[in-house]
Amino acid sequence: MHFVSTRGNVGDAGFIQTFLMGLGNDGGLMVPHEVPLVNQDNLKEWEGLSFQELMLEIFGLFTNGEIPREDMKQLIDDSYASFRHPEVTPVRKLHDSLYVMELFHGPTFAFKDVALQLMGNLYAYVSRTRNEVIHILGATSGDTGASAISGVRGKEGIRICILHPHQRVSKVQELQMTTVQDENVLNLSVKGNFDDCQRIIKEMFSDLELKEKYHLRAINSINFVRILAQTVYYFYAYFRLQQEAPGKKISFSVPTGNFGDIFAGYLAKKMGLPIDKLIIATNENNILERFIREGVYKPGDFRSTYSPSMDIQIASNFERYLYYMCGEDAGAVRSWMAAFQAQGEIRISGDYLQKAQRDFAAYGVGGEECLSTISKYSAEYGYLLDPHTACGVAAYEAVGAAADGVCVALSTAHPAKFDEAIRLCDIEQEFPAEISSLFDKPQRQTVVEHSYEEVLKQVEHFLQ
Ligand SMILES: *Cc1c(COP(=O)(O)O)cnc(C)c1O
Repeated sequence: MHFVSTRGNVGDAGFIQTFLMGLGNDGGLMVPHEVPLVNQDNLKEWEGLSFQELMLEIFGLFTNGEIPREDMKQLIDDSYASFRHPEVTPVRKLHDSLYVMELFHGPTFAFKDVALQLMGNLYAYVSRTRNEVIHILGATSGDTGASAISGVRGKEGIRICILHPHQRVSKVQELQMTTVQDENVLNLSVKGNFDDCQRIIKEMFSDLELKEKYHLRAINSINFVRILAQTVYYFYAYFRLQQEAPGKKISFSVPTGNFGDIFAGYLAKKMGLPIDKLIIATNENNILERFIREGVYKPGDFRSTYSPSMDIQIASNFERYLYYMCGEDAGAVRSWMAAFQAQGEIRISGDYLQKAQRDFAAYGVGGEECLSTISKYSAEYGYLLDPHTACGVAAYEAVGAAADGVCVALSTAHPAKFDEAIRLCDIEQEFPAEISSLFDKPQRQTVVEHSYEEVLKQVEHFLQ
């Protein structure tokens, strides 16, 4: 097993090298040279495993023996000890054909914890065993930043700088990031939107001299390890549903922004997990829905919605899908990405469009629809959906599962993180103590313009 870039110009890389590289050194995204296949016998063997045991098996297919199994087991056990639910990612039934998988039982109440608790420990492990300097640089629409900071705060040998869009994240998201007082954390609040933050980060990672000089590491889903950690819960949900609804086809509806979480599902399916439909659920920032419908990938006007973690126009993982859509042809990916750079759009048609439409269903959820879905599920099922999960559920309702199937909607955040939207539904919720205590803590952040030079100055000052 080794890893290559979607643009074909990074030589074979090992697992740890890929983890440290983050964005491919040629500007592409790292993917396995060959996706390992899981057969019926493997599925049978894995059926009764806990989340942690399953993760150990799945990582074993990718880590190349670079991390001894005992070490990996310890890393995994440590990472999920902080979760509030013994199952880590429990699956709950809402009605006969709809389940939710709750991915928000980690320290910051959003699904990002699933991958980032592990990545925090893995960075500490690599720093310890290989003497690597770890300076993490990331952009967040709100949840990645909180999770990544929680994963590495106070850890020796690691510093972390997170860019978030100024006043465009929820209050709880902002507090989770900015109330952390550890000296190894820098929060830059960027006057712009998430796409501006992500662009600056990608530009820094593309400057190989800078990346090398400051030992910059990625926690965004451009990092393949984050994707891999997220494939585990697709397998886990599949096994739970085999018990709950044996013989039924299983689809997933996935609230999507950067195409990371849904790509993890696509990878699980490519590995051989029998997934029926993968539903891309977006909010009004629906570039991905338009791509699946019309074959045109073109950013529209940025919209601020009730689901701010999905307020993204340029989905960085989409490049990974393009790579597989065209049969792993790095040359084709290079020309599409060059066209995107030059003309601001990618167009596909014919066989490619048909393939994309076979691989995914897609639906963009409007603001009112999001709120009415929250109200409906609260009234009819006594279950409070956060606005991102509500997009997933609304997309499932619009697209439907197979007649003889069930759908698992991924619940990506706890509703307490997005009380702004919940209150608009006239619902009062009780906050978990970990969240209500945030409101009394002092905040630390630096507000900057959305300029590459200004961000760079702050980053250099912090990492000196
Ligand atoms: C990040 C996030 C998403 C979108 O996930 P992607 O991997 O970017 O597609 C959805 N919901 C919540 C709550 C998030 O934090």
